[in-house]
Amino acid sequence: MMNRRPPADWVTQLSDIAAVFAAARRGRAGCCGRSAGGHPLWCIHYGERRLPTHRATYNSAVASGDPGNYYRRAGKRPHVLIFAAIHGLELEGTAAVMDLIRLLETGEVQGFDPADAEAIAGLASDVSMTLIPIANPDGRMRHVEIDALLGFDLEKARYRMQGAWADGSIAGWPEVKAVHPVAPARVKHLGAYFNDGGINPMHDSFPVLLSPENQALFKLVDAERPDFILSLHGGTNVTNHLVPPAFVPPYVMRHNAAVSRRLAEWSRGAGLPLIDSFADMPADGAVQPGELDSFNLMSALHHYCGAVVLVYECNQGLAVIDTLQLDYAGMRRAHGGLFRVLLEHAVATADMELRSFGLQPARKAVRA
Ligand SMILES: [Zn+2]
Repeated sequence: MMNRRPPADWVTQLSDIAAVFAAARRGRAGCCGRSAGGHPLWCIHYGERRLPTHRATYNSAVASGDPGNYYRRAGKRPHVLIFAAIHGLELEGTAAVMDLIRLLETGEVQGFDPADAEAIAGLASDVSMTLIPIANPDGRMRHVEIDALLGFDLEKARYRMQGAWADGSIAGWPEVKAVHPVAPARVKHLGAYFNDGGINPMHDSFPVLLSPENQALFKLVDAERPDFILSLHGGTNVTNHLVPPAFVPPYVMRHNAAVSRRLAEWSRGAGLPLIDSFADMPADGAVQPGELDSFNLMSALHHYCGAVVLVYECNQGLAVIDTLQLDYAGMRRAHGGLFRVLLEHAVATADMELRSFGLQPARKAVRA
């Protein structure tokens, strides 16, 4: 039987995050907005980043033939935005972001493998980062009594994550997405997927943003123009993997595939299972959207600012028979590997525009 109690340094409560942010010395800590329920969206920045005012919106810059009219990346310090818990109880990512902040603030290595922590600390001077430990604080605050879903059975986890309809039946996944926004009268319990306005921010009414959380996030990415945006999720007892984004141009897929491939290598070395979801992708990244692909938050963020968007699903250690069940240490180590691989990739590709990554020379010549 796995120990359900999280380690003492597993930080996922909004009040504990506020205390860490108040004590931050190296990062510029603050609040980039408020949730529907009035909770702060805590946000911390590392690394100097001065940007010229943009001349065009992103999609206008693309239509002009040069995305550089929005933001020119090559030769600049790469910028990585990481946000966790857009689904308020997927707290594995929150704890890992707090591990990262602890490392950057104090140099203390907790959670990550020492070699990864050392690599991340070394890379930190070459990148800038914006970190949001809880992107949906309303969903998190509805369940302050717990810090993780490890050891919960599927029904109890789903009750908390997706909620229960007015008749008491568990909403389940993906059926929970069939009614949206969710009016309070329709439910007995509003799951942590939702903000207090009944909105699952992954499936906001794009491009018209209904949730104040997403309004803050979009304002932030337009100001920061990140090169990479990583969204951290917990996906019951899945094997850890990056989820292919939908409705994005081939270069976004090529970056994802490179990060995924490298993460698979890291995972083999670390003895942690990972599925490389991009292993069968065509090398040029030209993937047709499927008939039922959803244009979700990550698709929208990409089309708003041009960033390479990545979604990570981590095993949550539920007590479900015959499934993979990571413990706290495994979840934290896995995120340490992910952060390291993404930062290494960001630095290794810093001298090129994002869209030129991974093209075959012949193809590049044709397109030039
Ligand atoms: Zn999620």
